Amino acid sequence: MNMSEILQFTDGTLRGELRHRVAMSKHTSWRAGGVAERTYQPADLADLQTFLRGLPADEPLYVVGLGSNLLVRDGGLRGTVVLLHGALKALRMMEANTLHVEAGVPGAKLARFAAAHHLSGAAFFAGIPGTLGGMLAMNAGCYGSETWQHVTDVQVLTRGGDLVERTAQDYEIGYRQVIVRGKSGLESGKPSSAVAPHLPLSQEELFVSATLHFANGDGEIERKAIKELLGKRIASQPLNLPNAGSVFRNPVGDHAARLIESCGLKGKRIGGAQVSQKHANFIVNAGDATAADIENLIAEVRATVAAQTGVVLHPEVRIIGEVV
Ligand SMILES: Cc1cc2nc3c(=O)[nH]c(=O)nc-3n(C[C@H](O)[C@H](O)[C@H](O)COP(=O)(O)OP(=O)(O)OC[C@H]3O[C@@H](n4cnc5c(N)ncnc54)[C@H](O)[C@@H]3O)c2cc1C
Repeated sequence: MNMSEILQFTDGTLRGELRHRVAMSKHTSWRAGGVAERTYQPADLADLQTFLRGLPADEPLYVVGLGSNLLVRDGGLRGTVVLLHGALKALRMMEANTLHVEAGVPGAKLARFAAAHHLSGAAFFAGIPGTLGGMLAMNAGCYGSETWQHVTDVQVLTRGGDLVERTAQDYEIGYRQVIVRGKSGLESGKPSSAVAPHLPLSQEELFVSATLHFANGDGEIERKAIKELLGKRIASQPLNLPNAGSVFRNPVGDHAARLIESCGLKGKRIGGAQVSQKHANFIVNAGDATAADIENLIAEVRATVAAQTGVVLHPEVRIIGEVV
């Protein structure tokens, strides 16, 4: 599908930015990976709805926030990537300790906004370099806090552009996992397999905003908590090199980093990808890594840990796209 075909579907009313052949290395924190056939950054929610309504049902569709948990293979992505960072960025205080936050808002901005409004419990968002949409999709968390602990309701768009309101009770929420309860297809009633097999969110919906609840707090204490938390991260994570945070989920009762380190894998390198010397569950792009270098290193770490410890690690990062 080309620009004019999309415009035909939407009567030329789109206000966002449609680009062709976009390097996903510019939209992922690993700074590696292939090219997306198209990206669309909507002007606002209504514009995103118009865009989705105009997309043919068989067009592959992806949604990306800050790409901080994402590896796009070197062969790139066929279809359209909706980019929400820089779009859907509204953030406002509502009554009774609640915030309405759009999906493109970064964690750091959310944490600082909550502190400025004397809300407690949002500091942990400052250390997660993703958007609220990505944090909702992943149930991102750290230091004992998780995104969905604060969600009262979310607004989602179906693949066909319909806006649906859901509460936290509509989801099964686990460790880095969020699934709509008993849902098999879209609100429109179309069978799921025919509609959006490529939308990475298994429910085939994308988050556009959420209402978050926090306790009353003291802005000064919250700002101090943010500063301490960022200091801890600088001390323990290789933030000077491109990475995607923790590559593997922690197995029950253990830490992936401990297992990887115990297998002597710190510093292990394939091409430009390297197991960080600072934090064994991070793989850094130590210079011109391809997505294949990173994916091969993930496979190598997994195989070595399984062979030496008997524990099979599961990636936390999402891997999408075509191999070359
Ligand atoms: C240095 C560093 C530290 C990190 N520390 C942590 C940490 O402490 N805790 C933690 O949990 N994670 C951490 N991460 C990983 C990452 O930041 C989180 O997973 C974050 O939630 C991803 O958000 P994103 O916007 O970058 O999502 P992306 O990487 O863009 O996308 C991730 C997944 O979410 C989906 N998605 C994105 N937006 C939406 C949306 N609006 N609707 C539906 N699906 C969507 C994507 O399709 C994809 O499947 C870290 C990453 C880095 C680089």
